[in-house]
Amino acid sequence: MKYYSTNGKAPLADLQKAVVKGLAEDRGLYMPECIKKLPKEFFENIGDMPFQEIAYNVAYTFFGEDVDADALKDIVYDTLCFDCPVVKVTDQIYTLELFHGPTLAFKDVGARFMARLLQYFIRRGTPTSDNRTVNVLVATSGDTGSAVANGFLGVDGIHVYVLYPKGKVSPIQECQFTTLGKNITAIEVDGVFDDCQALVKNAFMDEELNRHMRLTSANSINVARFLPQAFYYFNAYARMKAQGHADQLVMCVPSGNFGNICAALFGHRMGLPVKRFIAANNANDIFYNYLQTGKYEPKPSKQTLANAMDVGDPSNFARIYDLYGKSHEAITALISGATYSDNQIRATMRQCYEQTGYVLDPHGACGYQALIDNLKPGEVGVFCETAHPAKFKEKVDDILGSDVEIPLRLAAFMRGKKQSVPMSKDFIEFKKYLLTQG
Ligand SMILES: *Cc1c(COP(=O)(O)O)cnc(C)c1O
Repeated sequence: MKYYSTNGKAPLADLQKAVVKGLAEDRGLYMPECIKKLPKEFFENIGDMPFQEIAYNVAYTFFGEDVDADALKDIVYDTLCFDCPVVKVTDQIYTLELFHGPTLAFKDVGARFMARLLQYFIRRGTPTSDNRTVNVLVATSGDTGSAVANGFLGVDGIHVYVLYPKGKVSPIQECQFTTLGKNITAIEVDGVFDDCQALVKNAFMDEELNRHMRLTSANSINVARFLPQAFYYFNAYARMKAQGHADQLVMCVPSGNFGNICAALFGHRMGLPVKRFIAANNANDIFYNYLQTGKYEPKPSKQTLANAMDVGDPSNFARIYDLYGKSHEAITALISGATYSDNQIRATMRQCYEQTGYVLDPHGACGYQALIDNLKPGEVGVFCETAHPAKFKEKVDDILGSDVEIPLRLAAFMRGKKQSVPMSKDFIEFKKYLLTQG
């Protein structure tokens, strides 16, 4: 399969190049030239299939041309070593809990899948390929860093540098990427998240650095990071179908950079019988406004309670726009939007807790409320719960007056010893440091 750039000015790439490089030469995002449909029989039998088997079928349809079938099966089964349940919240609303992975983040699936796929390409090698270590640079405000660090931990041939803003990630999150050691280096930047991201972007553009070491990115611009999230939606459909509730399914995805919902939409293109989608935003309402006006107008991001969705220029909008032939009409026919302020998020969390007993985190709250506000009679809604409420324990307990229990897996990270490299936000210093590495 060949991949083209959404900016249309870069040469076609094969899967290996798209994964190893991340971004096309013209700074566009890679898109597959064709998206194959899964056969009808697959959807007829899906209700009886376990998560891993469903995911393998989806992965094979997508990556089967480019990855050896046995290797692909290994990668999928190794990645999906956890459950992804659908839980009933009200008669009409269910939640797809995406937080049962190793770091309790839905980003675990894409991170692990990408790590294993990169490793496959490195091991396979080709006569012309470069066999030096691949260095993954990732800037994080919390969740991405922990998922990527844990997904890549111990994978040989790859080194990960996680850049995070000093004092601006939660203690639990910090432990999840600073205590690992091995091939994971945490870099504590004296600045804010935007400074971390600027350091990473400058590094990708620096010629001397790129001659010195192989660099790639592990955020959702990477095909191998965002696409495996489609597995979640096939599994959700399967579990709903098994219960006889899949006929008029509405999927609602709390969205920031739009990687997760983009994967769901790829799933839909592959034949997944979902009636329509809702993208739930916090106060960062760029996509919501696009749906209303047809104009895409990025803005600086606003800080909110649902901080993993504080994105003012969602990178995967380019993929969605391209997927529907740049047609506003086609996009609004399938996808609607919602936007919620912090006050609305708090009210939703309280209402849901009082009425159903379910503890929402601030991200999931946007998804739940969007279904409450938009579902029509006869439809059944599934929203993604994108984070375990314990990850935002202080906020959740403060809003609900609860005492959310910290899962053992999360607590285990807190026992390790913190190790990080202090760094200023000055690119010259960061570059000097990288030149001593690799
Ligand atoms: C990353 C993240 C999101 C947003 O996902 P996108 O793919 O960027 O749209 C939502 N909630 C949580 C908890 C996240 O970590």
